[in-house]
Formats: sequence, structure tokens, C-alpha cells
Amino acid sequence: MTRSRQARPYPTRTITPPRRTRDGGISPAWLLMQAAQLSWEIRNILLLINGMRLNLSEELHIHSESSDMLINAAHATAIMEARLPLAPAWGNGRPRSRSIFAQAREAGTDPADVRPDLAMVHPPIDPQFIHDVDAALRDDPDPNAQCAGTTLKKERCAKTIVTGIGSAHCSAHLTPAERQRRDTLRAAQDRQMQAIHDALEDQRTALAVNWIDRYGRRPHRLELPSPPSRPRQVFPFDDDAGLTLGEDDQAMLALYDTGWPALCPRSAEIIGALLDCPRGTTADLAEIAAIQTPERWSSGEQWLESSVWDGIRPPELPLPAAGEAPELDEHPSIQVLRRHLHDDHHAWERWNTGFATLVEACDDPPVDTMAELLAFWQDIGILASHDSTADEPLWALQPSLPSPWRVMYARGRHVQPHVLAGALDHLLANDVPLDPDLPPREVFNLIIAPKGESAHGTDLATRDTVSVSS
Ligand SMILES: [Zn+2]
Repeated sequence: MTRSRQARPYPTRTITPPRRTRDGGISPAWLLMQAAQLSWEIRNILLLINGMRLNLSEELHIHSESSDMLINAAHATAIMEARLPLAPAWGNGRPRSRSIFAQAREAGTDPADVRPDLAMVHPPIDPQFIHDVDAALRDDPDPNAQCAGTTLKKERCAKTIVTGIGSAHCSAHLTPAERQRRDTLRAAQDRQMQAIHDALEDQRTALAVNWIDRYGRRPHRLELPSPPSRPRQVFPFDDDAGLTLGEDDQAMLALYDTGWPALCPRSAEIIGALLDCPRGTTADLAEIAAIQTPERWSSGEQWLESSVWDGIRPPELPLPAAGEAPELDEHPSIQVLRRHLHDDHHAWERWNTGFATLVEACDDPPVDTMAELLAFWQDIGILASHDSTADEPLWALQPSLPSPWRVMYARGRHVQPHVLAGALDHLLANDVPLDPDLPPREVFNLIIAPKGESAHGTDLATRDTVSVSS
């Protein structure tokens, strides 16, 4: 309990190795520090979630040991990076971290002179708590001094004094004034411990939020439902295999293969409706899509009129600009939040612009609502109606779906070259699967081909392959 008032002769230096070595190679010291940092974070995440769903005490125990070892290794690498004096290495090969510490001590180096650049600082607490403890603490000339009190047998008490309160007695022989000082100190220490405990909890919660940001972010893109499971057989039409897929399942797999679902916003909802109802009118599909998320839509009409960016466009947070609210700017999370908002908005804007260009390059009117998105899918031939007799056409996935490349090839010649170029950029940026029958070069050639030439020149260009809109 005695405090060491002895100040270190040199302040501890924080060592941050460069990410790359001088010759451009990877920096093992930097990577080791990242590993130690991550390990420390994992420990804190485990501490936070222990007992929530599982008892993780065993995992915590083992991980804490390895985490301590990694932090030590990072410390050892900091000693080496700082080129602190070390005794000559003994043995062959690379030293273990504990031998670095031993070599440092042997050379008279204090390993505590440096520390690795790890962001595992103790969370800040109100300085008043520390001040109260400091105010209640008294120095003990000899913390192991014998109690000055006497026992009932009139003998000198053999116990050692209570430390930290300038007492001359053990806990049994405290004077009323000493007892008062001990209680004051204990209360101040308890308050400080509680403050540290609360601050650690807050720190772990912030860490968990940060992790969800780092590892669990789906940038407002609605998840696509899983496609029908693919049979292992390479040829689904092989009669002998007996593993043929239904026509609708095959069409669904083909749709995923084209890359259209990832290019179009909210295609997850249309696909969800088609999985439930492979053949339906526009109203049927809208009704089913609306039912899938009743908390969002009260009717199919409402779903049809909703924006294609509903739920995808990042929310506008009324956050004051940097500098407007200085007390807010001081909060470290605000900067992170501002950056995330900016990144999310930027990602959405890119998608928005790319999709609009794609629609324009398909020679189609702008798509703003789900009704217009369904019409777009019908026009480019993703959805086809086979039932010409019914009043309302029953839409289903076309058995042979046109790839985005094919649609571009068929329709790109009708639009401005810069629009086609923008749409092709969007396809490349989204890693749209290539069309095995149509090399991208053919499509790119359209950009430089003279306008109006060979509009009906090749089989590939005929609009029949991508269905003619009604
Ligand atoms: Zn005593």
C-alpha cells in the first residue's frame, strides 16, 4: 500500500515502428504490435461478453495468458527497435522475448524505459477520485514496522502496522483517529475502484461498437436471400443423374450468375418474392414483397411506390459540422462517426450514380421506384411473361437470362458513348461476372464504334435476345 514517490529518471518512450522497413519490406515489429493490440482487444471483448450466452472463463484464462505473452513480445520488439543497450546475445537463432528482457537487464538497461505503441491505455477517470485517494494516503517510514500496541498480556503486539495511513498500529490497535483515517482511505479507494471499473466497462462497450463497425458492417445493402442449392452434378440436364433442378430454380441460379442482383438496389426483395411465388402479376409480387417486411410496408401499392433506395440510402444525421460544437468535437468517437457517415454516403452515391448510368445505358427511363425497377427487369428481359392470354401478365424469371454485358452490347449502341463507358465502369467496379459468350472487348468496342453503324450487324446485337418490351 505504500506508494513509490520515486520518479523515473527518464520518461517512458513510446516506440512506434514504421509499417515498412527501409527497403519497403514488411515490418515485423509493426505487425507484432498490431497482433498484440488485437489480442488485447479480444481479451476485452471476451471480458465484455463472458456470461452473456456462454461461460467463457476457460477461454478468457487461456487467451489472457497468450495475450500477456504477445504484449511482452511487443515490448521486447520495442526494446530492440529503440536500440537500448543489450548484453551480447547468447545461443543461436532468433532470441525469445524473455531473453531480450534478460539481455537488457544484464546490460543495465531498464526495459520500462520504452513501451510499444499499443492503444491499451487505461480509460480516463475523473481526477477527483485519484485526488481523494492521494489526499487520504500518508507515507509510512517503514511499511513493515511492528505495531506499537500491547496485548492483553501486556506484551508488545507482534503484528505489522496498517500501511498507507501513517499509523503506528495494527488493525486491532488503531487509535480512533487512525481508524478514522483508515475508513476515509478505504472509502476513497472503493470509489476509485468503482470509477475504474465503470470506465473499463465503457471502454469495452466502445471497443465492441468499434468491432461491429470494423468487422460487421454491411453498408446498408440489403442481404440477398440464398440462391437455391446447386446440385453437385455439372450437367443438371443429365437424365441419368437424377439431380435435375426445377426450371424456376435453374432460372434463379442463372440470375445470380449474371450479377444483376448485386447491381440493382433492393433486388433482394424482388428475389424474395420470386422465391415465394415464381409466377405472379406485378401486384402479386409487390404484395408478397410487402408482406415479407410488414413493419416497413402496409400494402403492395405502397411497396411499388417506394424508392429503390429506401433502407439503402444512409440516414442523414443532423451532426454539427466540425468546429461548430467544440465540446462535441472533443469526443474521440465523433471524428470516427463523421468519417463513417462520409464513407457511407460516398459509397451510396457511387452506387446511385452507377446504377442510374447503367439504366440509361440500357436505353431505359430512370428507375426511382420499385414499380419502375420491376418494369426495368421486364424490359431488359430478366422477367418474362409467357401467358399472353391473361389480362395481367404473369411474370417469371426468364429461363435464359441476359447478362449485363449482353444487354449493354444490344442496347449500348443506342446511347451516348460516355454513358455506355460509365455503365461499363460500373460493371467492372462491381466485379460483374463475365459473359462466357461475349468478351468484354466486344462491348467496349461499341464505345469507339461510329454511331449507327452495324446496329443490326451481328446476331449478338439483335434485341430479340433481350426480349422486346411491351
Ligand atoms: Zn497491534
